Amino acid sequence: MFKQLITGLVALAGAATAASAAAPLPDVAKGVAIPQDKGYFVEEIADGLYWVTEGVYTTMFLTTGEGVIMVDAPPSIGQNLLKAVAEVTDEPIKYVIYTHSHADHIAAAGLYPADAIVIAHEATKARLERMADPDRPAPYGVFVGGAAVPLPTVTFSDTYTLTVGDQTLELAYRGDDHEPGNIYVYAPRQKVLEKIDIVFPGWVPFMDLAVSENVMGYIKAHDEILSYDFDKLVSGHFGRLATREDVETQKAYLEDVVANGLTALKTVDFMSIAQQTGFDNLAVLFDTYLTALGRKCADLTEAKWVGRLGAADVWTASHCGRVIESLRID
Ligand SMILES: [Zn+2]
Repeated sequence: MFKQLITGLVALAGAATAASAAAPLPDVAKGVAIPQDKGYFVEEIADGLYWVTEGVYTTMFLTTGEGVIMVDAPPSIGQNLLKAVAEVTDEPIKYVIYTHSHADHIAAAGLYPADAIVIAHEATKARLERMADPDRPAPYGVFVGGAAVPLPTVTFSDTYTLTVGDQTLELAYRGDDHEPGNIYVYAPRQKVLEKIDIVFPGWVPFMDLAVSENVMGYIKAHDEILSYDFDKLVSGHFGRLATREDVETQKAYLEDVVANGLTALKTVDFMSIAQQTGFDNLAVLFDTYLTALGRKCADLTEAKWVGRLGAADVWTASHCGRVIESLRID
């Protein structure tokens, strides 16, 4: 017990040192102030469309006069999603849209009324069906404070328009990026787009290109986002809405990561690294080589971006690693 306590304290001290060693956060990385008595922030963006955050996750919901349309259900906001809705409308929740299958964005959907109609891309339904497998080695969603979710009752492959009362949301699938099935949810009247886990306003993306499965699709999604006529983007993280400028800034950052990854691939010499490590242990050889590639790309990128975007000093190396692997093998 005592030994565990000491180990814990040492780990905490290590974490504190790491945090204090990080570059100061630029102002653009700061989100809205969260009322501490409530634990969440809710605000109307325009014409009955609201966004909600607890400081780390963001999503939106739309009042229609004939029931609320919820987009996603981040378990970190949890019950406060229901409080946020009740704070601004008496309408019941009638529709739920899943942007994609990841539990950290939807695994509180069991809180919504059981008769709500759940809409998602067909690939999202297929993934959620896999996750409902009772023989799966670990359950879905519990690691982020959620639980199993209702399967979608309505699915689509390309586009789906949801009109309720005098409100409309246009759902579209434009190809694989962060995850197959990750859709665009557009409110044309409000000029608001929700697209999750691509853009991190004021920050570089979450580690490993936001844990995206398709690297080139992930980068291309920035152009897809910009092709919409939107004023505000609900992007899923962190505590504020994104603007077109945020999307363009992150796109420029990623273009630098790709260019610097190519530079690293062209300039870091595999054979000179092999001369140091030898060929006997191929794992050591490739680990040394890939680490050198990633470091070269990160050094070039950090020199330009630390201080402009939050976590450029923390996650650029992981982005370089993901991009370089993609440039090598995809
Ligand atoms: Zn995700």
